[in-house]
Amino acid sequence: MDLVQKILEGDPRSAARLMTMIENGAAESVSILKSLYRHTGRAYVIGVTGPPGSGKSTLADGITGDLRQRGKTVGIVAVDPTSPFTGGAILADRIRMQRHSLDPGVFIRSMATRGHLGGLARSTNDVVDVLDAAGKEYVLIETVGVGQDEIEIVRSAHTNIVVAVPGMGDDIQAIKAGVMEIGDLFVVNKADRDGADKTVMEIEMTLHLGKETDAWRPKVLKTVAVKAEGVAEVTREILEHQAFLQQHEGQRRKGRERSYWVFFELLQERLTTRVIEQVASNGTLDRLIERIAARETDPYSAVEEVLKRAGL
Ligand code: GDP
Repeated sequence: MDLVQKILEGDPRSAARLMTMIENGAAESVSILKSLYRHTGRAYVIGVTGPPGSGKSTLADGITGDLRQRGKTVGIVAVDPTSPFTGGAILADRIRMQRHSLDPGVFIRSMATRGHLGGLARSTNDVVDVLDAAGKEYVLIETVGVGQDEIEIVRSAHTNIVVAVPGMGDDIQAIKAGVMEIGDLFVVNKADRDGADKTVMEIEMTLHLGKETDAWRPKVLKTVAVKAEGVAEVTREILEHQAFLQQHEGQRRKGRERSYWVFFELLQERLTTRVIEQVASNGTLDRLIERIAARETDPYSAVEEVLKRAGL
């Protein structure tokens, strides 16, 4: 419980310790997360999604600089769901983030896949809660956005930034599948390269295909993140979106959506684990699978049988 107190006081080493426990799926992390939960819900969460190498880290670094200038504290969670090996990624992040590494107002953490993606989304969520409880006012989640599954990770962010780069028509196509829908703000980074305007137009066209509402209209901004060009506008637009959400009860709605998602993720996982443990312990599971494979029963009846036996 000492750890809880230290995290609430914003001690980075204690926060890091809990994050490692969360990543390793350590059972003790649960009781600590339970104690911390009522101290969360204050941080404003920003998702930064895009293909590998599009400049997410560089952009996040620039946004962090802007927020620090405004006197805000920042947590950064860099997630790479495509790589089970973090070594290189962590090192690269650290070097790039050096500008903020000595700043006690900034906390940076890298995470990668251990097991299934759903698990990664939840542990990322827990890590965001730790940063929130530790008093970070803004939390940036950087993630490689290549498909629907990876989007789970930034689903609960208040503002989602989708990063693209010029001259990759196919990439826009790739982004379209699912990722476009989550964008509250689009950034065409590496605008020092040819074709940035064309990419901006392509994204705008895709956005205009969406249905017209009087809700938030996502903007498409150009940046050269390495030179910090256009980054201040991105930060301003994030704050604009935050103000919009506050005015329209959006922040509360997003909070409820996040609670719903976290609750069901957890319920699903715990229920499945419990039921499986029950039937697997006496070999029933193996026999059941054999029977399904041999067409002696069907998967529906098998699941019904197991649930009935578990008293559900
Ligand atoms: P991430 O993998 O999406 O996080 O991308 P990084 O931030 O690591 O950037 C990938 C590479 O692109 C790095 O070498 C950056 O220095 C470079 N980069 C980032 N932004 C720009 C930009 O606006 N223009 C150019 N030319 N290079 C950039």
